Amino acid sequence: MKYAAPRGTRDILPADSPLWQLVENVCRHYFTLYNYREIRTPLFESTELFTRSIGDSTDIVKKEMYTFPDRKGRSLTLRPEATAAVVRAGLENNLITADSLTKLYYLGPMFRYERPQAGRQRQFHQAGAEVFGSSDPLLDAEVIKLCVDLFKALGLKELEVSLNSVGCRNCQPAYRTAVQQYFRQHAKALCADCQARLLTNPLRILDCKEGSCQSFIEKAPAALDHLDQECRAHFDKLVGWLDAWQVKYRVNSRLVRGLDYYTKTAFEVVSRQLGAQNALCGGGRYDNLVEELGGKPTPAIGFAIGLERLIEVMNKLNLERPAEGPELFIATIGDAARQVGVQLLAEARSKGVSADLDYLGKSLKAQLKAADRIKAAHVYIIGDEELKKKTGLLKNMATAEQKEVPFDQLLAQSDHSCGCGDDCRCE
Ligand code: AMP
Repeated sequence: MKYAAPRGTRDILPADSPLWQLVENVCRHYFTLYNYREIRTPLFESTELFTRSIGDSTDIVKKEMYTFPDRKGRSLTLRPEATAAVVRAGLENNLITADSLTKLYYLGPMFRYERPQAGRQRQFHQAGAEVFGSSDPLLDAEVIKLCVDLFKALGLKELEVSLNSVGCRNCQPAYRTAVQQYFRQHAKALCADCQARLLTNPLRILDCKEGSCQSFIEKAPAALDHLDQECRAHFDKLVGWLDAWQVKYRVNSRLVRGLDYYTKTAFEVVSRQLGAQNALCGGGRYDNLVEELGGKPTPAIGFAIGLERLIEVMNKLNLERPAEGPELFIATIGDAARQVGVQLLAEARSKGVSADLDYLGKSLKAQLKAADRIKAAHVYIIGDEELKKKTGLLKNMATAEQKEVPFDQLLAQSDHSCGCGDDCRCE
C-alpha cells in the first residue's frame, strides 16, 4: 500500500525549502522593520468564529471550510484565514485595546476546500499583518507599501496594486441596493451561484470567477461612486499618501474581495508574471470586526500574502536561489584521515560553517559524488599524502578549482556566524 499526499496539498521538499526559508525570512524582516510583532494562533478554532466574521454567504464559509466535530461534539474548523483568529486571540489576551495601536503579524498554513489548480491549493501558506486601533488612512498606505517593499526586496518587478473602497455601514446599503438592481436586470444570464447571491448577498457577485458573469461585473455600479463623505475623504487621503511615497496603484472600483468583513479600503497586489490566479496578496480595512467578535469598537486593517504564489513567481523569474547544500563536505581516505576530518568537522560547525562528511564508508570517488548530490559548495579532501603534509585539497564544486589548504588554515578565516544575535554566548 502506497500513500499519497491528500488532494490539494503539497510536500515542501528539501530542494525547495531554502527558497521558502528565504521568503519567510524576508517577510519576518519587513514585518519587524515596520514594527509588527509575531502572533501564533491554533490551526483550528470554533467554527462560529469564522462563520460570524467571514460571512455566512461567502464561498469560504459556504463551500470551503474543513469543519468537523471533536469527540465532545464541539464544531471546529481548520482556519481558512488568520484575521478572525488574530482578532480572537488579541481580544482574549488583551492585546487589542481601543485606545492603543497594536501591530501583529503571522505566518502559517491555511485550509480551504477549493478545486485544486495552479495557484490554488487546499492547504496553502500565508504571511499576513494586522493593525488594530487607528482609522488613519496613513496606516492603509503603510500596509500597502509594506507589501510592495517586501515583494521588491524579493526581486519581483511587474507588480500592480489594485485599489478600491467598499464603503462603510453607512454607505454600503445604498451601494448594495444599486448593485442588486443592476444585476436583477441580467439575472437570467448569471451563473447559478450568482442568482442565489442576488438574493442573499449581491456584492459577492462582484467577486464571482465564472467567465459568464464577467462582462456584467465589468459594467456594474462602481463602489467609489457611492461612498459617503467620510469614506471618500479616507480614500482621497490614502491615495495622497501613496502618491507621496510613489507607490503606484490602479483604482479598480469593482474589487470587493472574498470576505464580508471589509470596510473602506480593499486592495490586492497582482503579479503580471502569474497566470489566472494572479493575486499575490489581498487585504483591507475591517473597522467593525473587532466589535462583532465581542470587543470595543476598534478600527483595523490587514492583509495576507499567499506564499505558494509568491514562490511560483520567484521560480519563474529564475532569480539566484539560496544555497541548498552545506558549505563544506569533508572527504577522507582511511582511518587516520577520518580522525582529522572529524576534528575539522566539529571546528567548522562551532564556527558557524555548515559541514558534513561520509557516514557510509564510501570510496573517495563515491564521497565526491555524494558531495555533488547534496550540493556542497566545497569539498575538502584528506588522504595519505595530505596527512603527511598536514594540508588538504579544497575543491570549489561550482568552478572545480582546487587548492592546497593546511589543516590549521581551513577554518582560520571563518566568521563566527551562529545566528545567536547580540546575546551570543557560543564563543
Ligand atoms: P484571502 O485570504 O482570500 O484574502 O487571500 C489572500 C492571498 O492568499 C491571495 O491573494 C492568494 O495569494 C492566497 N490564497 C488564497 N487562497 C489560496 C489558495 N486556495 N491556494 C493558494 N493561495 C491562496
